[in-house]
Amino acid sequence: MNFHRPEEECGVFGIFNHPEASNLTYLGLYALQHRGQESCGIVSSDGVDLHAHKSMGLVADVFGNEEIFKSLPGKAAIGHVRYSTTGSSVIKNVQPIMVDYSRGSIAVAHNGNLVNAQFIRDELEAWGSIFQTTMDTEIIVHLLAASKANSLVERLSEALNRIKGAYSLVILTETRMIAARDPHGFRPLCLGKLGSSYVVASESCALDLIEAELIREIEPGEVVVIDKNGLTSYFPLKKVQPAPCIFEFVYFARPDSYIFGKNVYQVRKELGRELAREHRVEADVVIPVPDSGVPAAMGYAEESGIAFELGLIRNHYVGRTFIEPQQSIRHFGVKIKLNPVRAVLEGKRVVVIDDSIVRGTTSRKIVKMVRNAGAKEVHVLISSPPTSYPCYYGIDTPTRKELISSSHTVDEISRYITADSLGYLSLKGLLNAVGANDTNYCHACFTGDYPIAFPKLKAEPQLDLFEKE
Ligand code: SF4
Repeated sequence: MNFHRPEEECGVFGIFNHPEASNLTYLGLYALQHRGQESCGIVSSDGVDLHAHKSMGLVADVFGNEEIFKSLPGKAAIGHVRYSTTGSSVIKNVQPIMVDYSRGSIAVAHNGNLVNAQFIRDELEAWGSIFQTTMDTEIIVHLLAASKANSLVERLSEALNRIKGAYSLVILTETRMIAARDPHGFRPLCLGKLGSSYVVASESCALDLIEAELIREIEPGEVVVIDKNGLTSYFPLKKVQPAPCIFEFVYFARPDSYIFGKNVYQVRKELGRELAREHRVEADVVIPVPDSGVPAAMGYAEESGIAFELGLIRNHYVGRTFIEPQQSIRHFGVKIKLNPVRAVLEGKRVVVIDDSIVRGTTSRKIVKMVRNAGAKEVHVLISSPPTSYPCYYGIDTPTRKELISSSHTVDEISRYITADSLGYLSLKGLLNAVGANDTNYCHACFTGDYPIAFPKLKAEPQLDLFEKE
C-alpha cells in the first residue's frame, strides 16, 4: 500500500576480508531495509569467481533459506536493497549488477540517480553496447568495460568523470572492494571496521547490527579501494561544493544512524524544537504521525511544554505490497496502517506533527481520523518546508504536478486537509536544526535550487484539489 510519501531509494553494503561475508551482508541489508523494499541481492567473491543471489522481495524473504548462503562463498560480499528510482521494477533490474568482461567479473551496487544517464546510454548504444537492464547503474559498468586504461582505478576514474548525478557505489571484483561517492555527496556512505575487515554501508545502523565500528564517512568525490594490502583512498574527480541530501535527515535515514557527521534522531528532535519556536499553537496535546514524526513531535513537546502523547498507533505489519481487498472498502486506506487512540484525543486541542506533505491525501485522512476520534481542534505542523519540487538525485518523489505545495498556498492546503491550522518549518529553521548554512546541503525539493544543472522544468498542469471529493 502506498501512502503517498516520497519513496526511499536504495541502500548499499559491502564487507571485505571476513569468513562470513555474505551472512554479514545479509544482516547489513536487513538493517537498511527501510531504504528499499522492492528487491535485494548479494554478490560474493571467493577470490576467483563472483557469485550472486538476488530477487524481488524483502531481505528476510529473499535470503530466508540458509542453503542460499552456501551459494555465496568467499570472504568478500556486497549487497543492495532497492526501491526503483530509475528503470522499472523487474527482476532483471535487481542489483548488484554483475557482468563478465574482458578483464574479469565485476559487480556494482548503486544508491542514487544519474542525471546524464540517457545521454551516455544513447552514446554507448551507438557504439554497439547492449544493455541488459533499464537502470542507470548499468552505464557505469559499460563505461568501465569500454575503458582502455590499464588499472581498475583508472578505468573507474574515467567512468566517474563521465557520469553526473548522485551515486554512492560499492563495487566488487574477484580481489577488491571499492566504495565511491559522487563529488556532491548527495547520498550517505560510511566506512567501518570489524576486526581486520572493512565494511561500507549507506547508514551506520548497518554497522551497529554487525557490531562494526564506524570509522568515518566516505568523503564526497572519494574512491576507496580495499584489497589484501589494506585501504587506499583516491580523489579522482574535480572538487565541487558538497550538497548532501537534507531530506535524509527529515525522513529517509533511520533515526539511530549517523549520516553526514550527525545523529539523525537528534537532528529530527531539533527540527521539532525549531518548529515550536516558529509555530506556537494553543493546544492540549502533541502527537506524531508515526514513525518518522516521533522525534520531531518529542522536540516540539519539549520546547512548547505541551504534553507528548501517542495518539496514532501504527500497524507495523502492513507491508508495502499490501493490496486492498476490494473496491467497496477502498476508503479504509490509512486506517489499515494507523489507528487513533480515542482516550488521548477526545475533547482535546491536538497538534499533529508529520515530516512532510506530498500529495495531501494522507494528511487529509489523518486529520479526519483524529477529529472522528473526538479531537476538538486539529493543528498540523510539518517538520520541513513545503515539498514543491521533484528530486532528480535518487529519491522517487512524485512529479511537480502531484506535489500539492508546488501549486497551492499553505492556506489552500490547510483547507484541503481540513485542519484548523497548518504550519511548515522554514528553510532557515531546517538549516538551523541541521547546523548548516544553505550552501552545505541540497535542499532542491524545497527551493528548486538544484546543485547540478538540470533541463528547465516544463510548466505542468496544476493539481486540482477539489476535483473529486
Ligand atoms: S532534491 Fe531533496 S530529496 Fe533530492 S537530493 Fe536534494 S534535498 Fe534530497
